[in-house]
Amino acid sequence: MIRDAAGLVAAGLAPEHRRAALEQVGARYAVAIPSAMQALIQDPADPIGLQFIPHPDELLLAPGEDPDPIGDDALSPVPGIVHRYADRALLKPLLICPVYCRFCFRREHVGPDGGLLTEADMRAALVRAAEAAGKNDADEVAACIEWGLSNPSSFPLPGVRA
Ligand code: SF4
Repeated sequence: MIRDAAGLVAAGLAPEHRRAALEQVGARYAVAIPSAMQALIQDPADPIGLQFIPHPDELLLAPGEDPDPIGDDALSPVPGIVHRYADRALLKPLLICPVYCRFCFRREHVGPDGGLLTEADMRAALVRAAEAAGKNDADEVAACIEWGLSNPSSFPLPGVRA
């Protein structure tokens, strides 16, 4: 598994002169190229290489470019929740990925923070998710919290559409 600039250079996927710039990219946006993906890269400029190998230009912010293009930051009342529409919420209990596509539109959030919500953050997020789904009864919300904490890979919440 390649996780950093040194690994990219050692694997021949990036030139030595780009190492320092790629360390800066890696400090901002996570890098992960599993060996199975690495084996599919015939050339760093082929489609799979371009999908996973970081580039220094990732740190450029063009004039007029919005650093929060889909509004996740503005619409996140608590960690792990994006509440864009009144009657639904996006619950993100896990913020890690086995690969990190360079085009990922949630790349500011997927990867850099260790990937896991604390239990307190998870409880707060589950409350928001349950309320957004119309579960305002305290027992229903409590049931959603317990379900979410004990079955983190079994979403959606009980009685809630995926
Ligand atoms: S969340 Fe999807 S788009 Fe983003 S890095 Fe992972 S696989 Fe790629």
